[in-house]
Amino acid sequence: MAFAITQTCCADASCVSVCPVNCIHPTPDEPDFGRTEMLYVDPGTCIDCGACADACPVDAIFPAGDLTGSLRVYEEINAEYYAGRDVLAEATTAPNFHRWAPPAFTRVLPSDFAPLDVAVVGTGPAGMYAVEDLLLHTNARVTLVDRLPVAGGLIRYGVAPDHPSTKKIGETFARFHDHPRLRLRLGTEVGRDVTAAELARRHDAVVYAVGATAARPLGVPGEDLPGSLAATTVVGWYNGHPDIKPGAVDLSAERVAVVGTGNVALDVARILTADPETLAGTEIAPAALARLRSSKVREVVLLARRGPETAAYTRSELLALAGRAGADLVVDTHDPRVAAAVDQGEGQAAWLRGLPREAVDWSAPPPDDHRRIVLRFHSAPVAFTGDTEVRGVRVTGPGGDVEILAGRVVRAAGFRGAPVPGLPFDERTGRVPNTAGRVDGLPGTYVTGWIKRGPSGGIGANRTCARETVGALIEDAVAGRLPARRRKRFGRR
Ligand SMILES: Cc1cc2nc3c(=O)[nH]c(=O)nc-3n(C[C@H](O)[C@H](O)[C@H](O)COP(=O)(O)OP(=O)(O)OC[C@H]3O[C@@H](n4cnc5c(N)ncnc54)[C@H](O)[C@@H]3O)c2cc1C
Ligand code: SF4
Ligand code: SF4
Repeated sequence: MAFAITQTCCADASCVSVCPVNCIHPTPDEPDFGRTEMLYVDPGTCIDCGACADACPVDAIFPAGDLTGSLRVYEEINAEYYAGRDVLAEATTAPNFHRWAPPAFTRVLPSDFAPLDVAVVGTGPAGMYAVEDLLLHTNARVTLVDRLPVAGGLIRYGVAPDHPSTKKIGETFARFHDHPRLRLRLGTEVGRDVTAAELARRHDAVVYAVGATAARPLGVPGEDLPGSLAATTVVGWYNGHPDIKPGAVDLSAERVAVVGTGNVALDVARILTADPETLAGTEIAPAALARLRSSKVREVVLLARRGPETAAYTRSELLALAGRAGADLVVDTHDPRVAAAVDQGEGQAAWLRGLPREAVDWSAPPPDDHRRIVLRFHSAPVAFTGDTEVRGVRVTGPGGDVEILAGRVVRAAGFRGAPVPGLPFDERTGRVPNTAGRVDGLPGTYVTGWIKRGPSGGIGANRTCARETVGALIEDAVAGRLPARRRKRFGRR
């Protein structure tokens, strides 16, 4: 019986290098890497050694025969990736594959190189992958800075509390906090407690991994009405983020509308419809748990601009909703195109096959005997309704405008970066302009993670991202392109 990779996989590829028979794909060298939401074990090649399960930081790998409940389907999902394919042959014919290419050691500092002093700003995945790379592959001394009093970034304050295996990766990162060449400075915000110029003066190089968690506005009238909440507020609330008040989310409404169908929208819907007792004992904030216990919410509707074939969620997050006891997942069939796409389509649309369907009457209250999540497609929001408080959201679709009555509306239309004083910032993209991690016009300053490439990609995507940035930093150090180091050499500090 082979092993299989399951829901919590964040595609960091830690398992790939330990597999003795190379049966986990796509590997970081293969064209599919970064395009699939997770990695897959080839059941035909796996020899059941279990090395991958030991290496996985989020407990995503199990013997396929041990999978139960909603995880059982992953045996098939792993096998599906290989059905009718020869991934090794595909990889070796890919344009970037070099058979027996000479090994390249471009990222290694010369052995007589004096230790670099590097500041890393941000303790989320991107900052920690950069720290890991610097500490394990160079003799650099690292100052690790974060504005919050607790390290972890979105692992601590973003990942939902009912995903404890995913949160476990925080322990993998935390092992570097006590490293003898690392100084941890929590509660230190760049732009408030220290300037970017000061950090640059005191270090040979500075890597910014400050994330991108500002809410992207929808740009529709009424979105600032009381009762309209950014997903960042709801996520911060249930995770106990120090910036969010414990009472920030009121759950006295029976229906909540969530604008968006990305994984964060699904997280919010899942937590708001969860049996609170399943969350007790997790890292959920006590105030949020207490409020969920007295919650009136019975229905969450997820609103998608376009059809099911373009929904933004990943399959594993959808499966986590569909397989739950205590809350149904229903597809609203107000538009005939929805049923047609689900029955005949592929990809995201096909994942909805088999789910209950209903043409929901949004002027009526939600059912009073059970909780449910409704997916409503082809419904672009045009306005939030209400005078002094939100009453609902008006959406436009093929049959004209419809008002979805909802006492709370959550805006989960994505994130964008926020400027850091002293760094350039592109207002259009919400990112720090950079070339392969080098901040444009600021030698010795680097970015990695969401502030570098934008707010997409799971935890594992930040590993290759940080690797590129640290590679650029090392290359610049060797080439004498770090301005602070040049000043140090010539005694002008
Ligand atoms: C709600 C949510 C849930 C998610 N769930 C999952 C999941 O289950 N699985 C998965 O694979 N991916 C998940 N992701 C994606 C994943 O969290 C991101 O890929 C990842 O966190 C991005 O890493 P980052 O280091 O760039 O940013 P962050 O994790 O946001 O870290 C940025 C850090 O920088 C600090 N900082 C910001 N500004 C300053 C400043 N001026 N001075 C000092 N410090 C500063 C912040 O306090 C923070 O600690 C989720 C994302 C969100 C938003
Ligand atoms: S159990 Fe062993 S052989 Fe199978 S995928 Fe994991 S590491 Fe590879
Ligand atoms: S999280 Fe990493 S180690 Fe675990 S299965 Fe996914 S790619 Fe492999």
